[in-house]
Amino acid sequence: MITIALSKGRIFEETVPLLAAAGIRVLDDPETSRKLILDTNQPDVRVLVVRATDVPTYVQFGGADMGITGKDTLLEHGGDWGGGSAGLFQPLDLQIAKCRISVAVRADFDYAYAVRQGARLRVATKYVAIAREFFASKGVHVDLIKLYGSMELAPLVGLADAIVDLVSTGNTLRANNLIEVERIMDISSRLIVNQAALKLKREPIRSIIDAFGAVVAAPGQTGA
Ligand code: AMP
Repeated sequence: MITIALSKGRIFEETVPLLAAAGIRVLDDPETSRKLILDTNQPDVRVLVVRATDVPTYVQFGGADMGITGKDTLLEHGGDWGGGSAGLFQPLDLQIAKCRISVAVRADFDYAYAVRQGARLRVATKYVAIAREFFASKGVHVDLIKLYGSMELAPLVGLADAIVDLVSTGNTLRANNLIEVERIMDISSRLIVNQAALKLKREPIRSIIDAFGAVVAAPGQTGA
């Protein structure tokens, strides 16, 4: 049995064509089904539906053999810049769910001036490890405020001077009168594999990695 951990929404939707290339079709729709273990057309392949931030945990500790997760989630999970967690093998950048992680502030906040002045900034984010590393590398003092969602609200109500969040089209920032002032890094989703599973189930896991890899390498694959 091969168990693949995925999260609902964007990553699941963008993974369907990759699974199809490996001859795998998920038989339930995670948006409508309440099942957490989804069968596929292959009796020896199943899909777990877990929270995005839990995907690395399931794969690292063998609850799943492989999973797909954003680089943002992997970096936060690993807790160190450059990422990587013991027991996790990262064979492929799947080039899906592309976005960037950025610093944003209220349009009327002079971020460059605050940084030049050496001001201590209050930064609200779900990505405390990435934010801590980024501001430390710039030599900017920050007080980090951990939030679990709707980061855009924090500067609007005076909870923070800045946020660190994922930006795709920029529509959410614009709708909330926020501007992007730093692009920390580009983000896309990665395939992660449990290293012990890779040894024990080498053939079936390799064939899935190769099928995914062929789609990623195919001309016209934009990941958009
Ligand atoms: P946008 O308005 O297109 O810039 O999207 C920004 C919102 O969508 C923010 O709330 C982000 O947290 C979320 N978002 C954007 N891209 C991704 C992604 N690849 N994965 C998860 N969340 C995302």
